[in-house]
Amino acid sequence: TTLANQIAAGEVVERPASILKELLENSLDAGATRITIHLEGGGMDLLGVEDDGVGILAEDLPLALERHATSKVATWEDLQAIQTMGFRGEALPAIASVSRLELLSRARSQNQAARLQVTGGMAAAPEPAARAPGTTVRVADLFFNVPARRKFLRSPAAELSRNQKVLRQIALANFPVAFQLIQNGRSLAQFPATDAESRAARVAAIMGEGFLANALYIEQEDQGLSLSGWLGLPTYNRARGDEQYFYVNGRPVRDPVVTHALRAAYNDVLFQDRHPLYALYLKLPPERVDVNVHPAKAEVRFRDSREIHDFLFHTLRRVIAEQGG
Ligand code: ADP
Ligand code: MG
Repeated sequence: TTLANQIAAGEVVERPASILKELLENSLDAGATRITIHLEGGGMDLLGVEDDGVGILAEDLPLALERHATSKVATWEDLQAIQTMGFRGEALPAIASVSRLELLSRARSQNQAARLQVTGGMAAAPEPAARAPGTTVRVADLFFNVPARRKFLRSPAAELSRNQKVLRQIALANFPVAFQLIQNGRSLAQFPATDAESRAARVAAIMGEGFLANALYIEQEDQGLSLSGWLGLPTYNRARGDEQYFYVNGRPVRDPVVTHALRAAYNDVLFQDRHPLYALYLKLPPERVDVNVHPAKAEVRFRDSREIHDFLFHTLRRVIAEQGG
């Protein structure tokens, strides 16, 4: 029901940036190689995400807006070894229940697109439309029907900056995908697709020029756990204060175990009292981490958090001792 979706929206849809995260994850799950974001009013008036992914069959469009009707997990085993960013089947119905949402899509196997309009959770009948293969989701007038929620949004500039942060966070974990962010017709950020050799350009664009020259590169593996990425040195005189990115199997995550291990390793002997910048990627077998603990999927639960903590701490401390001194 619309009410159930609005209640779910309380957990998943806090502001434009939380919508952007969900839409970008859907585009990535759909195998997109090029994603364009359109904003008006910091995303409060309009937030659109356009991709060249697999698309949605016309007959499946209404399903995409049904609660828990995810196309990504079919069985309990799937959920145990989740490979996609999405799996809860909650985001689109929740977003649609508190906005005017348009879903326009063409499946790669079809030669016609279809469009579905939803107003505050009420869907109109799908109609034929034109589009190259891929999907566009446009979210207009966020919280038009829940004014109490609209009041919690900030200025367009503040919401824009949160959207930019979400884009940086996702761009830093999806190097082969090209991203562009346009607000009111002006391009504000552009990340061309990169391969292994050109990665540095994207890292510099996001972490700041000069970051790479003042960072340790890490690539370590031990007993099924692997850690790679960049850890900033205290010598880096940064313009931005909070570029801290940690990914678990490609998923941006904040986790107290991780934060503690990082801080402990960084502060150990060498770099006391500093607040490190980093972009680090932890990979582990999916059955050793539960990603289904938080509606916005921003938290995970490690099956053995002690082991993860020690692996991070010892790996980082060793790399710092070897290269950082
Ligand atoms: P979830 O991502 O957890 O499956 P969502 O509510 O985010 O749930 O999306 C519902 C469904 O709509 C997805 O399972 C997928 O089938 C479809 N979908 C959403 N966005 C896209 C997209 N950009 N491209 C292709 N399919 C999409
Ligand atoms: Mg999703």
